Amino acid sequence: MSRVRTRFAPSPTGFIHLGNIRSALYPWAFARSKSHPGGGDFILRIEDTDLERSSQAAVDVILEGMAWLGLDHDEGPFFQMQRMDRYREVLAQLQALGHVYPCYTSMAELDALREHQMAHKQKPRYDGKWRPEPGKTLPPIPVGVQPVLRFLNPLDGVVAWDDKVKGRIEISNTELDDLVIARPDGTPTYNFCVVVDDIDMAITHVIRGDDHVNNTPRQINIFHALGKKPPVYAHLPTVLNESGEKMSKRNGAKPVTQYRDEGYLPDAMVNYLARLGWSHGDDEIFSREQFLDWFNLDHLGKSAAQFDEAKLRWVNAQHLKIMPAQQLADLVRPRLTQRGITPDEQLAAICALFKDRCDTTVALANWAAVFYDPVSLDPEVLTPWLSPAVQQAIWALHQSLSNCEWSQAHVSSAIKQVLAQAGIKMQQLATPVRLLLCGQAQTPSLDAVMVLFTRERVLQRLHQIHNFGL
Ligand code: GLU
Repeated sequence: MSRVRTRFAPSPTGFIHLGNIRSALYPWAFARSKSHPGGGDFILRIEDTDLERSSQAAVDVILEGMAWLGLDHDEGPFFQMQRMDRYREVLAQLQALGHVYPCYTSMAELDALREHQMAHKQKPRYDGKWRPEPGKTLPPIPVGVQPVLRFLNPLDGVVAWDDKVKGRIEISNTELDDLVIARPDGTPTYNFCVVVDDIDMAITHVIRGDDHVNNTPRQINIFHALGKKPPVYAHLPTVLNESGEKMSKRNGAKPVTQYRDEGYLPDAMVNYLARLGWSHGDDEIFSREQFLDWFNLDHLGKSAAQFDEAKLRWVNAQHLKIMPAQQLADLVRPRLTQRGITPDEQLAAICALFKDRCDTTVALANWAAVFYDPVSLDPEVLTPWLSPAVQQAIWALHQSLSNCEWSQAHVSSAIKQVLAQAGIKMQQLATPVRLLLCGQAQTPSLDAVMVLFTRERVLQRLHQIHNFGL
């Protein structure tokens, strides 16, 4: 049974955003999915040959973002800049096989050629001046000019592949001119490096953005020239931002790691990104395991997907709801620690009680903080609730909570007794007590909230009506 080998090959230019990371999610999922019994490997390759635009900071965001999302790789990261010798070696092989020729056309000549072609409504392309042909006499070699190396593209026939997303694509070789595969200083160019890497890394499936469709026929021709079989290709449609433009840093896309900082769960992100261009029936909320059980290349969407932050928040909220409280506490604890709070052993119970009303772990940490940090009280909000009867009831509650057993059942009956004695309604007591305890008028049921505090803290916070009292 042959093994599937996929790769993610980002260029570390600009910080990786959700649109890019989806191109990591699918090849990762395909390598990990059960849809091919031979198993799979996922390879990470950093395409850092654009020296001016590549940065270590961008590499770090790629690595951190992938680690956070759990997109683990089996091999790499490989850096193209460290593989230059290998590309030169393969270039020499290709040259020895007669698929490469030097071209001395200068940039100025190419510009003039392009202008001429455009003026005559022709597609701009290299005219083949230096391409060796049987019986053709090449022009005299200009002195002192370092040539580029061009790939001897086949003149006729078609390049065809069955794209797993786009279906059959056929490009006539007459559409393709002879690609520059090495610059005058001998450095190999992008399309050539990609092919050498995909061969050396034994990639079986290339799953990448459809901005590379135009490169594919050129890459396939180089595969053939090197006597290798091209991989299967799947070209993913673009991810659009909320305004319908291609997602990019320039128009406001956030780095992937920002979602981590904003309190999104990795599984929710995987779920949301998975649906952004792939579907399993109408399933909207699923676990990582389900995704890997279901994922294959047959249900990739053909049209561009649009990012929707409100939907992402909703998906995150659904995952928060189903996450075990102890796991949530582990995510919330460091956020509290950052704020100088040392939570107690009630944190998991606090998470369990509040998770339904939160859509991020940041929101959950904000609720949890209420249990540890002093809350600010707004007299304008609180005072209108403090009628004399209510104040008396709060003192009575203070009294009975100082003695009762500290359990939800006992706290609940203490509240009921106080209400009965004072002859007031639950809301009349509960709202000011919520404000005193949590600084908020809306909370889960009062008894459940109270027992998550220590008794001392509840008494101390109730005691604050002293400052607002009669
Ligand atoms: N480095 C390319 C990019 O970031 C991807 C190349 C590929 O997947 O073949 O768009």
